[in-house]
Amino acid sequence: MDFDTVELSHPSHLSPSSLGTFLRCPRQYRLRYIDRAEPAFRAAELAFGSAFHAAFQAWLASIADGRVLTDEEVRERFKVELHAELHAPGPPILWKDSEASEEQFEALGEKMLAVLLTKFAAPDRVLGVEVPFELWLTEPESERELPPVVGAFDALVEYDGRVHLLELKTAARRWGEDQLRDNLQLTTYAQAIEERAADAELTLVVALKTRESAIQVERVTRDAGDQRDLLETIASVSRAVRAGVDHPVRSWQCRTCPFLGVCR
Ligand code: SF4
Repeated sequence: MDFDTVELSHPSHLSPSSLGTFLRCPRQYRLRYIDRAEPAFRAAELAFGSAFHAAFQAWLASIADGRVLTDEEVRERFKVELHAELHAPGPPILWKDSEASEEQFEALGEKMLAVLLTKFAAPDRVLGVEVPFELWLTEPESERELPPVVGAFDALVEYDGRVHLLELKTAARRWGEDQLRDNLQLTTYAQAIEERAADAELTLVVALKTRESAIQVERVTRDAGDQRDLLETIASVSRAVRAGVDHPVRSWQCRTCPFLGVCR
């Protein structure tokens, strides 16, 4: 593939995941977001995560609607979503584990949902699910407006009259201290929610894929230093994209990269 021709323009917008992609590998950012290259495959784990999210959000939406889904209905929703994700048109699904199958994912998801619905306290009120946001920041020195970071909050809910932004993840292991403290996506959410509701709390819910399914619930906080880091990162990534920075970062990640075939 010819990587000499680079579109020299600032990105019109960024997102938590495009920022993360650029920081991991600028070549992958270019292939995915500028060249819009067709990925060679979709990871089965991503399909699982999307289906799990959809089921959790359907449960929250049903609380808002006043007809709360039963646990069985939530699990059924998960299976329908998983099937749709795994059989959607587009690049083929790549199973990381050759033993894995749709049935195995169904069983895992049902077990994880059973734990989540038992251990996670239902909110008093659900204000919205998949709530879109835009975070507009300005570079202090140049007063240049940076490309907005756009995305969606998993859910805005209330406990005891206080707004909570819920972010759901599925993971093979518990999030460690460093990951909780430094995760840029959470920093973005923390700043975006602060602009909307100053005293809102950011709550991370991790549904664990461990043998004994469990959930990890963490209150996430960020300070002025984290906000400064975010601003500098957005400004720097924006300048780098504008300048055509698109070098490859060869690492173990290349083995599972859907753009490996077109990367050289
Ligand atoms: S194959 Fe490796 S270097 Fe190439 S885009 Fe993917 S992660 Fe980056």
